[in-house]
Amino acid sequence: MSAANQGSTVKVKAGQEVKTMKAAVVNEFNQKLEIKNVPVPELEYGEILVKIKACGVCHTDLHAAHGDWPVKPKLPLIPGHEGVGIIEKVAEGVTSLKVGDRVGIPWLYSACGECEYCLTGRETLCPKQLNAGYSIDGAYAEYCKAPAQYVVKIPEGLDFAEISPIFCAGVTTYKALKVSEAKPGDWVAIYGIGGLGHVALQYAKAMGFNVVAVDIQDDKLDLAKELGADLTINGLKTDPIEDIQNKVGGVQAAISVAVTKKAFEQAYKSVKRGGTLVAVGLPNAELPIPIFDTVLNGVTVKGSIVGTRKDLQEAIQFAAEGKVRTNIETKPLDNINEVFERLDKGEINGRVVLTME
Ligand code: NAD
Ligand code: ZN
Ligand code: ZN
Repeated sequence: MSAANQGSTVKVKAGQEVKTMKAAVVNEFNQKLEIKNVPVPELEYGEILVKIKACGVCHTDLHAAHGDWPVKPKLPLIPGHEGVGIIEKVAEGVTSLKVGDRVGIPWLYSACGECEYCLTGRETLCPKQLNAGYSIDGAYAEYCKAPAQYVVKIPEGLDFAEISPIFCAGVTTYKALKVSEAKPGDWVAIYGIGGLGHVALQYAKAMGFNVVAVDIQDDKLDLAKELGADLTINGLKTDPIEDIQNKVGGVQAAISVAVTKKAFEQAYKSVKRGGTLVAVGLPNAELPIPIFDTVLNGVTVKGSIVGTRKDLQEAIQFAAEGKVRTNIETKPLDNINEVFERLDKGEINGRVVLTME
């Protein structure tokens, strides 16, 4: 069955018919998203059209809808960078994929392929990159198009909704752990056990680290325990810096995926000598760092942004082998405004994944 037939068709001009799809659209910052019919994207050379089955709701989408960051998204915008589904159409020039293939469209929508970063396996730093659901329309919609070269295949047998969060939350935290350069047996702290954090701690366990999970809500920490955290700390009840220093002597790496400056400050102070703070969460804030301690303790502070296509393939493989699972709640696309409200209040344990049918 061709999914294109499921979309409605409207006449826009005399004689010209355009296929439309349902999408959630940000028209203005800090306003509710509008659920409306928009044209199904037209393919250009090298692109594929994906019939979206599921798309996770990342906190980044909330930042986009609020215009939180110095670099603003395009408006109007269809958010969504964890979109997964089935290829319905391929344009001329696509050789690696075919109709019926299962793929996902990540944050790294495209890169130039030619700059020093693209040429050295650091495509997520490409200055010419486009980002799904930010600088170009994403997957809060029935269809999303993408350049064939930048989508990543999903192995048979994996559930679309369950694998969706791996396309951002999974790959991002897996990559952050890689760049932390922690070694098996080391202690690692994850600050913020939300959409990213709950998978971060599972990658950390699968990579052989001991894990401290820090959050400010007990239900998130209960999930962390269930998923294998060795130590959990509620940052509102216990000072995590002291607790981590006392119990494990500091961590080799602290990954901050919380959306608050406080967590970053605490994460910085949780690392031991020679350790690394990896900044992943994106509160619009500055992080004051004591120069003396950084120098004398040989502490590294790193930023980490999503992951390459290869990182994503690896992150998916962990899930395929059952080493990482996403704690998801599915909701219809129509419910996006309610989901955003809950995400803003910290009321989501794991990830909400929007389903399109
Ligand atoms: P989320 O809202 O699901 O999770 C945030 C978690 O942090 C929540 O569980 C919350 O309770 C917890 N938290 C809040 N204050 C805390 C504190 N003081 N200490 C410890 N935990 C605290 O959000 P998410 O979808 O996981 O995204 C997290 C952040 O990561 C966002 O800013 C998002 O934009 C960013 N992000 C970055 C990248 C990247 O490549 N660097 C990729 C995806 C998302
Ligand atoms: Zn994301
Ligand atoms: Zn490039």
